[in-house]
Amino acid sequence: APVCIIVLGMAGSGKTTFTRSLIEHAQTQFNPYVVNLDPACREVPYAAHIDIRDTVNYKEVMKQYQLGPNGGIVTALNMFTTKMPKFVELIRRAGERGHKWCIIDTPGQIEVFTWSASGNIITEGLATMFPTIIVYVMDVVRSACPTTFMSNMLYACSILYKTRLPFLVALNKIDLKDCSFVQEWMTDFEAYQEALESETSFVNNLTRTMSLTLDTFYENLTTCGVSSTTGVGFSQLLKHLLDSVNEYERDYKPVYEKMR
Ligand code: GDP
Ligand code: MG
Repeated sequence: APVCIIVLGMAGSGKTTFTRSLIEHAQTQFNPYVVNLDPACREVPYAAHIDIRDTVNYKEVMKQYQLGPNGGIVTALNMFTTKMPKFVELIRRAGERGHKWCIIDTPGQIEVFTWSASGNIITEGLATMFPTIIVYVMDVVRSACPTTFMSNMLYACSILYKTRLPFLVALNKIDLKDCSFVQEWMTDFEAYQEALESETSFVNNLTRTMSLTLDTFYENLTTCGVSSTTGVGFSQLLKHLLDSVNEYERDYKPVYEKMR
């Protein structure tokens, strides 16, 4: 069965660009099967084997049900999810044809996928059938602000606990900014506190306490700096992905097998 890699991250973090680069780097070894689940994107810079836009026309959905953009995306995703058994079957068959990985690009707005019924159904449906890994793409440029960094991390944290799947953080856009500051903030609590205090004159108690709490969460995280535009860091990322697959087989598979 192919390994499913679900690519998540804030809008503009670089999920789609990351997907393209990951496909390139995994091509010869893993022959990835590629899925685009963003109904609202204009074009994708890769050849998708399954594209949600072939199944549902999101603009039509908006018109027909008089929805705004987000409602349209959620509804399109719901419609797609009604074909979940077929989706799973297509991935399974792709595995038989030699696709070792299945890479899944998700809607621009992260909450559409992570806080919707269909997002849950898709994630759980895949995780019960295939080894499944979450890659959380994080924009290092935007995360340079300590408070933005924390809200991004809180989001990652909520997804980790909600999905209960191996979780890899891709620190993206390192061609623009070195990511060592993120890794420092994640391992050295005081360095983060200092950054926080020099940034804002008023650091409230919640922020301070949250950063303490996140400390234990960071221990469960693997990070890897990449540039989706230049390709830097992807050979390292591939190694981390293989470690995550082993982690899935060891710690997660027994749990998900019971849910089948
Ligand atoms: P998505 O909304 O998460 O799918 O993000 P996109 O893949 O559409 O990327 C958003 C913007 O970030 C685009 O303008 C990309 O060209 C840019 N981008 C993505 N990855 C990188 C990167 O590694 N380096 C740089 N410099 N820009 C990037
Ligand atoms: Mg995208």
